[in-house]
Amino acid sequence: MRGKIQIMSLADDLRKVVRGEVDDTPAALEKSSRDAGLFRVVPEVVVRPLDAEDICSVVRFVNEKHKQIQGVALAQGSPRQRLPSITARSGGTDMSGGPLTDSIVVDMTAHLNKFLELGAQEAVVEPGMYFRDFDKETKKKNLELPSYTASREINTVGGMVANDSGGEKNLKYGKTARYVAGLEVVLADGQVHTLKDLKGEELTKKLAEQSYEGDIYRRVSALVGAPAHQSVIKAAKPQVEKNSSGYALWDIGDPVGQANGAGGTPSLNLARLMVGSQGTLGIITKIHFKLVRPKPYSSMVVLFLDKFSELAEVVPEVLAHSPDSFESYDDHTFQIAMRYLPELAAQMKAGMIALGISFLPELWMALTGGVPKLILLVEFRADTQEECLAKAEHLAAEAKHNRQHVGVRVIKNEAGTKKYWAVRRESFNLLRKKVKNRRTAPFFDDFVVPPLKLPEFLPKLEEILSHYDLTYTVAGHIGDGNIHIIPLVDPQRPGLAKLLDELTHKIYDLVLSYHGSITGEHNDGLVRTPYVEKMFGKEMYALFLELKSIFDPQNIFNPGKKIGTNFSDMLSKIDLPKSM
Ligand SMILES: Cc1cc2nc3c(=O)[nH]c(=O)nc-3n(C[C@H](O)[C@H](O)[C@H](O)COP(=O)(O)OP(=O)(O)OC[C@H]3O[C@@H](n4cnc5c(N)ncnc54)[C@H](O)[C@@H]3O)c2cc1C
Repeated sequence: MRGKIQIMSLADDLRKVVRGEVDDTPAALEKSSRDAGLFRVVPEVVVRPLDAEDICSVVRFVNEKHKQIQGVALAQGSPRQRLPSITARSGGTDMSGGPLTDSIVVDMTAHLNKFLELGAQEAVVEPGMYFRDFDKETKKKNLELPSYTASREINTVGGMVANDSGGEKNLKYGKTARYVAGLEVVLADGQVHTLKDLKGEELTKKLAEQSYEGDIYRRVSALVGAPAHQSVIKAAKPQVEKNSSGYALWDIGDPVGQANGAGGTPSLNLARLMVGSQGTLGIITKIHFKLVRPKPYSSMVVLFLDKFSELAEVVPEVLAHSPDSFESYDDHTFQIAMRYLPELAAQMKAGMIALGISFLPELWMALTGGVPKLILLVEFRADTQEECLAKAEHLAAEAKHNRQHVGVRVIKNEAGTKKYWAVRRESFNLLRKKVKNRRTAPFFDDFVVPPLKLPEFLPKLEEILSHYDLTYTVAGHIGDGNIHIIPLVDPQRPGLAKLLDELTHKIYDLVLSYHGSITGEHNDGLVRTPYVEKMFGKEMYALFLELKSIFDPQNIFNPGKKIGTNFSDMLSKIDLPKSM
């Protein structure tokens, strides 16, 4: 070996400490370089940990590397090497660039994917399990995690927790955070920690503990408990039902025990803090979920609107009936679904002819009166068919009476609702995979405004969009005011990044003028991190920075997400695939 300098790669080094696979083949790196968003970032290496202990080894390894590199930099006066970091990746269906990194990807799906326990109304699972598999297990006891997403066939439960995902049942059941009873998480000390809601005596004990964990609890408690910070947190709390942006400091309890007057029980829930934090504070290795028993029967009212402005009266009218779901899709989505009927049929595991026939009434409506601008799906669920049908018929009768020009259809049972759910759930996937010479560009894809403000908000939004030559689809959780707009763009279009950026600023200014959120469920990732300060204001953003430094002082966990990415960094990573 004399005279020969052997340069070890990050992968070579990792192979010495990790028991699972360490893969730096071009195919593995390429696969992890994209999610369902519009960025491309190629990692240096992909690790497939065997278990939580393997993740601990990666964290300790990265900590050690940081010390070595910083030591050398100090001695030589300048940094020579890039500092490694760790980004968890599960299903890779994120739309925000959340699982992308140029350093180490930790793939949670390869081994950390086991179903561990099913209780009377709860389940324990590893984060890399796909929701579709988890759902099969919980359904054995007729239980469900109701925050499942439209991507339920391709995402994991860990991704749902890390993004605080939501879906079509959000209106009634809320997002994933509501169902997380506890988590096991690898923190920056390279150890697994159990996090849950601690109250009263339990919290007092933890705060007195002389340990790494005790120190974290003390520091977070001081951060959110300081009177000056409490007013900042209260003022910055999003005013809408759904939000995945920032760190949920307003929702992690009251360590001082004074939120409802002096003498309240102190509480602090660090598991809640992890939910929605996109792996920027630690890596989740085990999840304890609370579950619900789904109502078995369903009926639906479908409303066909010709103008967004009709929402003004329809939204409050529908919400007054307390439906289980209140969802929507627009004319473009409907047209795309009709064009790709065979693919939709395959996804629904239905025959193409049968599906075509089932859509005949809508096709006839489109031929005779044009395609309605917006289709609203209002679902009622109950323990008997009669009960949910009665609720649907009640709403339908009211809508027909109050608004003769609005098309109203009652779907009596679950079988009849399937085609509408297929269009609603599959539209983004169809767009992503099928439309020729155009790419989906999720950029302002997930904002939220108070639902009763939608009628006022939507025409203003349309006005902004009308100045840009863009084709886009609109779908969303109308009952929560959470709208998904997906532009379809030519990836070669000159000035695309500038256009998206300019448009997004205008849209978010409008959203924030209604005290809305820039993301209801898709989270910040790369695409929205530069807007987080605008969403929450300088003082709250400073608290986010402080929180990050408590959990991750060396910035080893998913750097550049939630905090630390500026507009030009983000825009430089846009790279839409020319073909899929
Ligand atoms: C067709 C389609 C439809 C969609 N519909 C919805 C929808 O209805 N509602 C919705 O909320 N989202 C939706 N999404 C977005 C996405 O599917 C969800 O956010 C999903 O929950 C992400 O899960 P995943 O397993 O793919 O996670 P990934 O994409 O792998 O990761 C998501 C984020 O979580 C972090 N992460 C992953 N695992 C861990 C872990 N173990 N510990 C710490 N951090 C971790 C990653 O670093 C990343 O930041 C949709 C996406 C597509 C493509």
